[in-house]
Amino acid sequence: MTTIRQALHETRCALASTSTNSPRLEAELLLCEAAGIDRTTIIAWPERTLEPAQTARLRALLERRLTGEPMAYILGRREFWGLAFGVGPGVLIPRPDTELLVELTLAVLSADLPLVCADLGTGSGAVACALAHERRRWRLIGIERSPDALAIAAANAERLQLDNLHLLRGDWLAAIARNSLDAIVANPPYVCDGDPHLRQGDLRFEPSAALAAGHDGLDAIRIIVGQAPLCLRRPGWLAVEHGWDQGEPVRGLLEQAGFEQIRTHRDLTGHERVTCGFT
Ligand code: GLN
Repeated sequence: MTTIRQALHETRCALASTSTNSPRLEAELLLCEAAGIDRTTIIAWPERTLEPAQTARLRALLERRLTGEPMAYILGRREFWGLAFGVGPGVLIPRPDTELLVELTLAVLSADLPLVCADLGTGSGAVACALAHERRRWRLIGIERSPDALAIAAANAERLQLDNLHLLRGDWLAAIARNSLDAIVANPPYVCDGDPHLRQGDLRFEPSAALAAGHDGLDAIRIIVGQAPLCLRRPGWLAVEHGWDQGEPVRGLLEQAGFEQIRTHRDLTGHERVTCGFT
């Protein structure tokens, strides 16, 4: 018979041989998931024995993690902006960096006006849901090309009971009418094709359409910035997330497209991460 303590120890040792930074936390999360218990139980009753079915499930989850599959896909969820999001292999795993995009949007746009804001390439819906949750008076439009991702976003919007979020299948702004939006936000793909990071860690398992965007990583941002001025009414606002070394070219693209008051904001680690501008 295996106790909680033994199972935890074995799982942690197995994970410690991988590149993970947090074998202990991951072992606890996998055990909770496999055994259907919470972390309080682990702490309070380490001597409790596990059912054979629970240990078998734990072993299966551990095997997946040992192949490098992201924790978020194994658990089927990830927290973003303090909300729980269902995630799966069809969507990018929401990153803490992207909370900056939400934070800026909340700070810049009026909370009281019934603004219409589109989130392009919404993926799991994390950004659109966070904004819809914070600003019940706004109307959010989450646009996504992948049907798999759209289904995940719809489930998240439903679970969070967001009736001010509408999801649309579409290719960036192609299906959006002229002068119909007050704001556009996006965390598009921005990694350069062939970047070695695409073959490391979680990124190996995430959809490449959500990550890679051409030789300089700017293909998607070029399209978005090019289309945005037509869809925005004045004064309209655009905010795009980008790579740490893309601040300068992205500011250039916004300038070329006629945006004003262009600014780049840094993320928690001090990297240029989100560039915004007004029409
Ligand atoms: N910031 C992500 C990463 O490099 C990339 C996300 C994206 O392309 N939108 O892990």
